[in-house]
Amino acid sequence: MKLILFGAPGAGKGTQASKIADRLGVPTISTGNIIREAIAAGTELGKKVKEYSNAGKLVPDEVVIGMLSERISRADCANGFILDGFPRTIAQAEALDALGVEIECALSLEVPDEDIERRMTGRRSCPACGETYHIIYNPPTSEGRCDKCSAELIRRADDAPETVQARLAVYHEQTEPVKAYYDAKGKLKTVDGRQAVEKVTEDAYAALGI
Ligand code: ADP
Ligand code: ADP
Ligand code: ZN
Repeated sequence: MKLILFGAPGAGKGTQASKIADRLGVPTISTGNIIREAIAAGTELGKKVKEYSNAGKLVPDEVVIGMLSERISRADCANGFILDGFPRTIAQAEALDALGVEIECALSLEVPDEDIERRMTGRRSCPACGETYHIIYNPPTSEGRCDKCSAELIRRADDAPETVQARLAVYHEQTEPVKAYYDAKGKLKTVDGRQAVEKVTEDAYAALGI
């Protein structure tokens, strides 16, 4: 199964992708995580994308499309994958089609802007495996440590309130039109992302029929 998890920054894409991926036994591909890993490793690619990411702007389409197509060509993607944070522009959605990728469903997590800042300021992320937590809504079992891999959790630089506002503006301007793109193909499904994590997961499973 090839799925897209769609939604505003902080809507819960990473949180739900992790659960759906475990259930289906397919990998989650988060372009945000790939970008952060490249920045942390100081690669050429990392240097190229750092400014964009830190400012809450989108990395240029050709760079992200290149990263994504390399990633989905690997063996672990043969039986499907979940895309978290891609496509974020119409050009990226078209590139996915041009690669011959047959998407079964684009699942959109609907969360209004006024809830987003609270989620971002409380978010804690695992720099090792990419799992995300929230200090109040979804805390790790052991404070400050990742449940999955025990690494020390961090606060992302771009989760500062002023950058969150910039990211929301980018989302409405450049990413939201991608919803209509999949709706026109009859592939869009929506879930109320304001509910508790477990209820969102339940609704996502129902929407996907898994
Ligand atoms: P969130 O999950 O909070 O929405 P991500 O981890 O998906 O954030 O993305 C973090 C940053 O990485 C974005 O603000 C952007 O700079 C960059 N990025 C991630 N995915 C893409 C993409 N598909 N196209 C362009 N930039 C991207
Ligand atoms: P995204 O990948 O869409 O940027 P995340 O999955 O990282 O979003 O979630 C953003 C923040 O909100 C994290 O701190 C996460 O623990 C928290 N969160 C995710 N889903 C919910 C939910 N249903 N209710 C409350 N908080 C949530
Ligand atoms: Zn981890």
